[in-house]
Amino acid sequence: VAQDSGINRWVYCSEEIKRDSMNQVTISEALYQADLEKEFCVVYQPQVQLETNRMVGVEALVRWQHPELGIISPGIFIEIAEKNGFIVPLGNWILERACRQVQELTELSEEPLNLAVNVSFIQIQQEQFVEETLAILQKTGFPPERLEIELTERSLFENRMEDLQKIEELRSHGIRIAIDDFGTGYSSFGILAKVKVDKIKVPREFIDRVDSNQNSQRIVETITSMAERFELTCLAEGIEREEESTFLRQLICQEVQGYYYAKPVEIHKIKQWNKSAGELSSGLQ
Ligand code: C2E
Ligand code: MG
Ligand code: MG
Ligand code: MG
Repeated sequence: VAQDSGINRWVYCSEEIKRDSMNQVTISEALYQADLEKEFCVVYQPQVQLETNRMVGVEALVRWQHPELGIISPGIFIEIAEKNGFIVPLGNWILERACRQVQELTELSEEPLNLAVNVSFIQIQQEQFVEETLAILQKTGFPPERLEIELTERSLFENRMEDLQKIEELRSHGIRIAIDDFGTGYSSFGILAKVKVDKIKVPREFIDRVDSNQNSQRIVETITSMAERFELTCLAEGIEREEESTFLRQLICQEVQGYYYAKPVEIHKIKQWNKSAGELSSGLQ
């Protein structure tokens, strides 16, 4: 390997790039041919109130199982779907499916659940975005006050003035806005200056080992106190260990989410948990 010439290495790299871009093309085409109902499903990860350990909401996360390519992670296909535009019909399908499933589950329950749905900046840029979102709420009977739209900093930053107005319009209907992966994009403060939001989500990378890593502690403390200063709800993502949740209890952080509490699961599992009064202690999964 040490004798590998620069040229050989270049050849190796270019093979890899070719393979990658071929995968991209394969996935891109597979997306367009996909049968939404057959190949896609939505799973739900509980969002837990830290103080009470109760499930107060769920985040909808899409899953794709292609008949030949197998399971493809959203970390890979969402970006491709954004590039080829498939994210628009897919995003609407996810929203409708999630609203319907969570509505059916909580209709007869005294413990209504909030529903958080990830929305891509490509979706917001569609002229019809607000109209279509409201139509889905109407069609499924899901109350706007219980819907939360998760946006990334990137999506907010890249959006034009008219898209920020769409966000305000959604809020005027009672829909809440969360900033996902706060602090990992380019302009966290810029966004808070531009648009009013309701919640910020502290990303998993800062929560990982936060109990023992002083830099992560400083970052998480800064984000949670900033959230308080802006009167925003704070949710910490990716809690995997008890020590991490214990650390967060010393801070002002209302909600948590992560494998320690529950992994993303199918709707019937959420139904069981909701019936057991939404009480989530680790190990229920
Ligand atoms: P995200 O919105 O930040 O979602 C959190 C991701 O972290 C999810 O991965 C979730 O399964 C995972 N996760 C949750 N708790 C833990 C934990 O304790 N440890 C670890 N290691 N991971 C945890 P997933 O489902 O693979 O989604 C990845 C990303 O893909 C999401 O990040 C989101 O940006 C995007 N995505 C997923 N579903 C959708 C969707 O329906 N629409 C759009 N536009 N994007 C989606
Ligand atoms: Mg999210
Ligand atoms: Mg996130
Ligand atoms: Mg999550």
